[in-house]
Amino acid sequence: MDGATSFNAAIDHQLLAALDKHTGGPYQPAVDKAQEGHPATAELAVDGSLAHASGNFLIGRLRTTIGQGPGSSDETTIVYDSGTGATVPSTELVLPTHRAHLAALAQSSTGLNSSTLLSLTDLAFDDTGNLTVTVPVAAPILSDSGYRTVTVPSATARPWLSELGQRVQDAAASPWKPPTPEAKALRHVNCDIVACAALTYDDGPAQATTPQLLRTLEQAGAGATFFAVGGAANYSPELVRAEHDAGFTVGNHTWSHADLRLLSPGAIVDQIQRSNTAIKAATGEVPTLMRPPYGGVNQRMRQNVGMPIILWSVDSLDWLTRDPAKYTPAIMAQVAPGAIILEHDIHATTVDHQAALIADLQKAGYTLVTVPQLFAGIDLQPGQTYGCRGHGRGCTPSPGR
Ligand code: ZN
Repeated sequence: MDGATSFNAAIDHQLLAALDKHTGGPYQPAVDKAQEGHPATAELAVDGSLAHASGNFLIGRLRTTIGQGPGSSDETTIVYDSGTGATVPSTELVLPTHRAHLAALAQSSTGLNSSTLLSLTDLAFDDTGNLTVTVPVAAPILSDSGYRTVTVPSATARPWLSELGQRVQDAAASPWKPPTPEAKALRHVNCDIVACAALTYDDGPAQATTPQLLRTLEQAGAGATFFAVGGAANYSPELVRAEHDAGFTVGNHTWSHADLRLLSPGAIVDQIQRSNTAIKAATGEVPTLMRPPYGGVNQRMRQNVGMPIILWSVDSLDWLTRDPAKYTPAIMAQVAPGAIILEHDIHATTVDHQAALIADLQKAGYTLVTVPQLFAGIDLQPGQTYGCRGHGRGCTPSPGR
């Protein structure tokens, strides 16, 4: 759900727990190629649904099932409040002191024993304010889905509801008010779950090539990050604005493509700040990421650059070979989930071939994201280098995984 940060985090948490259980360890996203020869395991079934959406409230449900039999399923039902941004379990819709009433009512209408009903975790409302209680049923004869829903009339349920439950019930007939969407470059993608790769384009913008690349990226639905040279951004602010407005990330590649290893502290700061000023003038936003020309990093540069340093894990050498028949196989051979791919949007030999390259990457199973999306959940630090996400060499894993 775009913009619903805490809701998405709760769903991802449940999904990652199921993936960890299914793979027998911390799950790592993979493309099909990497899973060849992987031993067959029990099927993981994932069933997500929206139970209710009205006013500020969204009730979502995720069930994950590995194999069959008792204990094979996990289920989470959560209530998201777009007014406060908070997400809580649906159990909080009912007062703890009245859960027994609900269990007794559910028991009498399903015939299930009370131990099954102790876990009344799946509570929601219908659009007239009746409370719904969904419980797993062991005997398939009761329900094809393995679940049965009991409806409690709104007036009966009212005294059992918590303050939150009453607010959700009061809003039951209102239209859903979604949260403010994220900027497209930051839209939620979980790169611990899906195989992400980040296309990055350096040295632009260029009048002859950048507009064509923007059209290609938009047509392909691919995220991308542009590390713009400040002088070029100052010369073509409309191109930098177009990159930003189309939902791409614009980063800083110094003012004049300087090798920052060779500069004094004051000159390093000047290269970064002049470029940030030019990009902000074009987009309205100060860049949050920089890439050093030539990948040039040393201690003095780290101490003065004042921004996270984004390197790469896939070097296409597109600027050197100027030949898609050479750099495309190089990219496809090096790319892995969490990769950052280095190319340059000032060469027609690069831009002309991006549609084919993107199609190859997407067909291989990659979701193409911006650098901020790739590193979502990781607190990037000024002066630190980042070349990819995950556990590969030179990569940064997400906290706790
Ligand atoms: Zn460069």
